[in-house]
Amino acid sequence: MATCKDCKYEMFREDHYSLRDSLWILICDNVRDILCIECAERRCGREIDVYDFQALMINALPSSSALAKRLGDFNERFGPGPQRAVHEIMVHNDKRIRTQLAIQQNNEQGITEL
Ligand SMILES: [Zn+2]
Repeated sequence: MATCKDCKYEMFREDHYSLRDSLWILICDNVRDILCIECAERRCGREIDVYDFQALMINALPSSSALAKRLGDFNERFGPGPQRAVHEIMVHNDKRIRTQLAIQQNNEQGITEL
């Protein structure tokens, strides 16, 4: 049984998903981490949307309502074409996350220095 690293929620088959590598690397501590979609969003600091998922079959399988909401009209055949078309959105979103993580890190360092 897989459990969410952050909230310890027991994740069933329909709770599993795969995000873009470029996004996952930013929010996980270890690439093998398991996070429920809500905790992944908390770490992102924004909502996960259809462009954040990898073009993999796992994202096209029947999913929980929480996941289905974010997946929207996801299609596992989303290939390099549509992915390229939304590249600017991704870059924009990932920049926001990097900025937010940098602010969080600075705040944490500020606390430890006190
Ligand atoms: Zn969680």
